[in-house]
Amino acid sequence: MEPLRRFVLTLLLAMLPALAVAAPHAPRPRVVDLDPATLPLEPIASVVIDSDHDTVPDRKGERVRVRGTVLIPTGVSRRVGLQVFVQDATGGLGLFNPRDVRVQLAAGDVVEAWGEVNQFKGSIQLQDAQVRRVGHAALPKPLPLTVEEADDWTHVGKRVRVEGVAGAVSLDSFAMLRITGDDGVPMQLFIPAPVVDRFDWKRYPRGTRIAATGVLSIYKPTWPFDGGFQVVLADPGDIQLLQPPPPEWHRWIAWALAAALGVIAVAGLMLHVMHRRQRARDRELSTLSALSAALADTDVGEAQLARNACEILTAYDIVEAASVHMVSDGQRLHRIADAATDARLRDASASPEDGDDGPDALRARLAAKGVHVLALSPLPGATAPLGVLAALSPRTRRPSQRQERTLLSAAKLLAMAVENHRIRERAKQEAQELQKLVITDELTRLYNRRFLDEYLRVQMPLAERRGGGLAFVALDIDHFKRINDTYGHEAGDRVLAGIAAQLRQASRSSDLPVRLGGEEFLVVIAEHDIDSAMTFADRLRVAIAEQAFDGIVPGESLRVTVSIGVALYGLHGCDAATLMRASDEAMYASKRAGRDRVSLSTALAAIAP
Ligand code: GH3
Ligand code: MG
Ligand code: MG
Repeated sequence: MEPLRRFVLTLLLAMLPALAVAAPHAPRPRVVDLDPATLPLEPIASVVIDSDHDTVPDRKGERVRVRGTVLIPTGVSRRVGLQVFVQDATGGLGLFNPRDVRVQLAAGDVVEAWGEVNQFKGSIQLQDAQVRRVGHAALPKPLPLTVEEADDWTHVGKRVRVEGVAGAVSLDSFAMLRITGDDGVPMQLFIPAPVVDRFDWKRYPRGTRIAATGVLSIYKPTWPFDGGFQVVLADPGDIQLLQPPPPEWHRWIAWALAAALGVIAVAGLMLHVMHRRQRARDRELSTLSALSAALADTDVGEAQLARNACEILTAYDIVEAASVHMVSDGQRLHRIADAATDARLRDASASPEDGDDGPDALRARLAAKGVHVLALSPLPGATAPLGVLAALSPRTRRPSQRQERTLLSAAKLLAMAVENHRIRERAKQEAQELQKLVITDELTRLYNRRFLDEYLRVQMPLAERRGGGLAFVALDIDHFKRINDTYGHEAGDRVLAGIAAQLRQASRSSDLPVRLGGEEFLVVIAEHDIDSAMTFADRLRVAIAEQAFDGIVPGESLRVTVSIGVALYGLHGCDAATLMRASDEAMYASKRAGRDRVSLSTALAAIAP
């Protein structure tokens, strides 16, 4: 296969010259050579005249001969399909498709060109011009134009100079540098592909002011003309830097400033964060110190302690609402206190009549009311939790670490306070019990002899200062021994308790009923005069006599009487012992007189010296 292919290829190559000879000649454009000598040399201005400004030259179609200086070398202009522009002292003109392509033209070459006046996409030109180099001269001085002036047909084909501020560069095979003139009009500077690499764009950064010298040409090859005008540049020297870019140190300062601002911003942010943390810590500490102060109050009850804790937690903005639920009757939780910033939260935390069945039930009940339990901190007790501290929120969210810590501490402090309170209460109660045992009589619950002595130690000097106001009423049950003997000791005890009840009932808060021992009693009353004291004693006697003791004697009620003796401070004595004796003697007088009666002491008080 391989040798066959090589053979066919060789054969075809050998036939190529024969094929070329056999091919018909391509039609060449018909060119009428003009004798330049038959045409007068004309100023370019007279050739490009377009008096009605429709971009169609007045002399379109005429054959003319002009002489001008080449503005852009052929190596640049022709390769990109540009016209060769020539200019004389009167104007500029494009030579389109010069016929003698072998003529290499440098910028500054003076040429004679002749051909037909034509118009091509707005630019006036000589079509199929013949060119002859006749010499070399300096390039014509550029015509200084503002960008706005250059943005017009008038100067197309001439070497011009425009100034503006450099803008964006778009690089393709050619390059477009955008500039903006002082008049605000933008314009493109066109750098053809053959020379684009020679331009160093970094020399003209955006914002620098530059001047560009080149040939003014049209920019968009459409007709009717809807593009703009451009200045074609051929050499890096065609761009002049008028105002250099800001020096390097400016950029350094800008960098340093930006860095400093960045550092300040970061430092500010850090300070802000630290400040916020410090404030949160301060708030936590002040909450805890307020809690310990409030919970140290020994005079308030459990509910008030819990209320204090809730109020501090909400007032110090730790939570929106808090409630305390205590364990009672086994596992049920009853709300004893709450505090909330909004009423809905407070209402929701209220326990039902029989309490909540444990923490989960509490959580579920609140959730049903749209209240979220942020945290449920147990109140640790000595053996089992005393209850829970609930932190509530209307929104579902997780508590912050700080919140959790504060709530836990609050729960511990509250539990401690409640526990202490309970211990104190128990101790107080026990002390009271003990006290009562010491100062009261176990059977009758009346004060005993010991307390009477204490009482009189305080009251006697007061009576002395007041000049009286105390009366001693001594009582003894009549024939009490008989009751004991007949109905038993227990029946006797019942009678003693019944009479004690009568004494308690008859006594006012200022009076003191005492069981002296056995079936003997004494009531110390706050009374000034004899009549009142006697009335009191007799009312007591009647009340006792009328009291019926049922169930002692089968089928009937037992009645008991007392004998009473009365002695008055000042009248019958001025010290406790004397008055006790006087009232006792009066009581015995009643016994002697037949019992169930009241006798006033007959003793005479010793006159104070
Ligand atoms: P009188 O009318 O003269 O006072 O006669 P009386 O029997 O009441 O007198 P007496 O002083 O002889 O008797 C007192 C009795 O009280 C003697 C004692 O058995 C009885 N007694 C003392 N203390 C108690 C007690 O705590 N309970 C009972 N049931 N009896 C007591
Ligand atoms: Mg008696
Ligand atoms: Mg007696």
